[in-house]
Amino acid sequence: MSKVLIIGAGGVGGVVTHKCAQHPEVFSEICLASRNEDKCRAIAAQLDRRIQTAQVDADNVEALVALIESFKPDLLIHVALPYQDLTIMEACLRTGVPYLDTANYEHPDEAKFEYKEQWAFQERYAKAGVMATLGCGFDPGMTNIYCAYAQKNLFDEIHQIDILDANGGDHGYPFATNFNPEINIREITANGRYWEKGEWVETPPLAEKRKFDFDGIGEKDIYLLYHEELESLSQNIKGLKRIRFWMTFSEKYITHLKVLENVGMTSIEPIEVNGCEISPLQFLKAVLPDPASLGPRTKGKTNIGIIADGIKDGKRRKVHIYNICDHEACYREVQSQAISYTTGVPAVTGAMLMLDGTWKGSGVFNVEQLDPDPFMERIGEMGLPWQVVELDPEDDPLA
Ligand code: NDP
Repeated sequence: MSKVLIIGAGGVGGVVTHKCAQHPEVFSEICLASRNEDKCRAIAAQLDRRIQTAQVDADNVEALVALIESFKPDLLIHVALPYQDLTIMEACLRTGVPYLDTANYEHPDEAKFEYKEQWAFQERYAKAGVMATLGCGFDPGMTNIYCAYAQKNLFDEIHQIDILDANGGDHGYPFATNFNPEINIREITANGRYWEKGEWVETPPLAEKRKFDFDGIGEKDIYLLYHEELESLSQNIKGLKRIRFWMTFSEKYITHLKVLENVGMTSIEPIEVNGCEISPLQFLKAVLPDPASLGPRTKGKTNIGIIADGIKDGKRRKVHIYNICDHEACYREVQSQAISYTTGVPAVTGAMLMLDGTWKGSGVFNVEQLDPDPFMERIGEMGLPWQVVELDPEDDPLA
C-alpha cells in the first residue's frame, strides 16, 4: 500500500493516473499535480475512485518540496516535460523520495537533450540512499529493457541493435504530433546521429531512409533519428559495435514538416511580434491539435521494438522483440491514444517494481541497468504484451 505523486496532467499523465488507479492494492493513495489543476481534475473525473489533485509549478524546487512534504509520497512519477527533470530530481533528493521519469533533460533554450545533468545527481542520490529511475516510458524505456532482456537471456554478446518505432495510426488531421509538439518537432528536426565503434556518426535531419515490413501494420518508410536511449545503451550493452534508432513518418507528415521548417516555424529562437517575444515553435504548439485530443480520433496500431544481432553459443543470432499496440483499444481502456499509453504503462510498471523492492538501489539508474526479467514478466498483463521473432542472421531487413 503506497502513496504515489504524479506530476504532469498531459497525455501521458492521464494514462499513468488511470493505470495507477486500476491497482489500488499497490497505489492506495494517488495525487496528480500539474501547472493547471483543472487538467488534473478532468482526469480525476474519468476515474471510478477518488484521487487528490494539486497545482504545482514544477520549475520551482521549493513549490515541489512543499507539495511532497504535505502529501508524503512513497514515490514520484514525473510525466510533465523534460525541462522539469532537474528541479523534480532536486526536490526528490531533498525529501528522500524515489523518482521515476520517461524522458531525459532538455535545455529549454537549446535543442539539446542529454543525460549529463541527470547522471550528475548520481553521487548525491547514492549518498542519500535514494533511487532515481530514468527513461521508463517506451522509447526510452521498454526498448532499453528489451535490450537488457536480450543481453541477459538471448545472447552471449550483442553486436548491433536497431530500435524501430512505427506508428501506423491515423488521427485524420493533415498534421498533428502524437506527443508534446514542441518536444516532438525539436527531436525530429535535429541532426540524425548513431553510434558505431565508440564514435557518434552524424547525418543531416531525416537523410537516411529505409523500408521495413512491420507485423500488424505493414510496410512503412523509416527514418534514422538520434534518440536519447542511444546515449545510455551504447554504454550499458557490453560488446556493442553499433546502435541506431529509426522512426516511421508518412509522406504527408514529412511534407508538412519541411514546409513549416522552410518558413521558420520550427525555430525555438524567439522573434518579436507586435512588441511580444515569442518562439515560433511554441506558437506552432499552440495552434496544433493538443495530443491529448487525438485519442478518440486515432485508428490503427503501433509496433515498437528492437532488432538485436549478435552471438549465442558460438553462432550468429538475430531477433526482433516488439510490442503491437492498438490505438482504439487504448482509448477504450484509458481514454488515450497508444503513444501516451505505451509511455505511461511502462512508467507505472517500473513504479510498481520500485515500490515492492524488486528494483532497488541507491543512485541514478537507466532502466537497462535494472533486472529486466521481472519487468518483462509483468508488462504483458499491464497492457503491453511482447514477442520475440527469430530472424535469418544473414538477412539484413534494413538494407
Ligand atoms: P503533454 O504536453 O501532453 O503534458 C505535459 C504536462 O506537463 C501538461 O499537463 C503540462 O501542463 C505539464 N507541465 C508543463 N510544464 C509544467 C510545469 N512547469 N509545472 C507543472 N506541470 C507542467 O506531454 P505528454 O504527456 O505527451 O508527455 C509527457 C512526458 O512524457 C514528456 O516528458 C515527454 O517527453 C515524455 N514522453 C516519453 C515517451 C517515451 O516513450 N519515453 C514518449 C512520449 C512522451 P499544461 O497542461 O499546463 O501545459
